[in-house]
Amino acid sequence: MNVPVNIPVFEGNEKRYLMDCIDTGWISSAGSYIEKFENGIADMVNKKYGIAVSNGTNALETAVGALDLPKGSEVIMPDFTIISCARAIVKAGLIPVPIDCSMETWNMDVNQIEEKISEKTKAMMVVHIYGLPVDMEPIWQIARKYDLIVIEDAAEAHGLTYKGMQCGGLGDISIFSFFPNKHITCGEGGMVMTSVEKYRDRARKIRNLFFDSERRYIHEEFGDNFRMTNMQAAIGLAQLEQIEKTILRKREIGQLYQNALKDISAIRLPVDKTEYAENIYWVFGIVLNDEDYSVDEIMRLLGEKGIGTRHFFYPMHKQPALLKEECCKKEYLAEELFPNSNYISNHGFYIPSGVGMTREQQEYVVEEIKKLFA
Ligand SMILES: *Cc1c(COP(=O)(O)O)cnc(C)c1O
Repeated sequence: MNVPVNIPVFEGNEKRYLMDCIDTGWISSAGSYIEKFENGIADMVNKKYGIAVSNGTNALETAVGALDLPKGSEVIMPDFTIISCARAIVKAGLIPVPIDCSMETWNMDVNQIEEKISEKTKAMMVVHIYGLPVDMEPIWQIARKYDLIVIEDAAEAHGLTYKGMQCGGLGDISIFSFFPNKHITCGEGGMVMTSVEKYRDRARKIRNLFFDSERRYIHEEFGDNFRMTNMQAAIGLAQLEQIEKTILRKREIGQLYQNALKDISAIRLPVDKTEYAENIYWVFGIVLNDEDYSVDEIMRLLGEKGIGTRHFFYPMHKQPALLKEECCKKEYLAEELFPNSNYISNHGFYIPSGVGMTREQQEYVVEEIKKLFA
């Protein structure tokens, strides 16, 4: 049997909306689906504005750029995350200050933030990892105390709630990605969400080559072409209509794995619930706690059985691209600061959990994993 790590599902209005773009000729970055998608997402997360862009990586770059922070400012961020986060900070001329993760939730350990704050710290980038949110109350307290801006990367967190509030609306500025393995996809796509007008205005300019609203073709800054097309927005809107169903399905997949794999002592499973959230299992991660097994070997053996897996993220403090950057302070990236992030990136991998996977496929994955650890 072949079980890819992700299988997207298009069971709603995707085709109908997409054909409408083609039939009416509205295929570029103008067209009614863009505004509908932007408003739909903004409504979902309780923010005033959505700014649709071409992908999640560019959404992060747009969000950080929209803040217009002085060059050389420091930004707190997780060590265990995707490169897009550090990239956005470095591209804006800012200094990333990574924080180790919690072994329980794999999210940034909020207790380690305060000791890393300096006079240059201007913002914190929080990233909800793999289906559980960052504990936001302490983040908001620190933000108030030190007057810091909160950037929220909710690329993996559509439909996830923190104390009942929708992720993607918990920062001063937040982002989603709509890559095919996210809960809402439009092939490639992203969005910036905010209620702050000046961030919205700057984000829109960054997205569109910094065109001047008074005199077109005069540019105060460079900006980029990060525009989303109406066709992407059409698919995204149809996907947004299905979000509740998607989350239910993801939880069902997560819970089946939890029940089936909980007695294997060599592995550690994701936390199903914390006091502030219920896991939506963006991916179903597994961490080996037995040194007798190697992640690469396990992934290879599952691969031989047709089961797709992926490594966990690689820590920011070890990223060659980041270490080459002059702006990066070596003392912020010292190996001994990140025991947890080192451990999970070396011992973690995730297994298939796409919304489109069948029960039969899932049972096959369970069976093969049980055999491996028997
Ligand atoms: C997927 C992802 C991104 C990047 O999104 P793309 O659309 O793939 O560029 C950013 N941050 C996190 C946490 C992600 O999981």
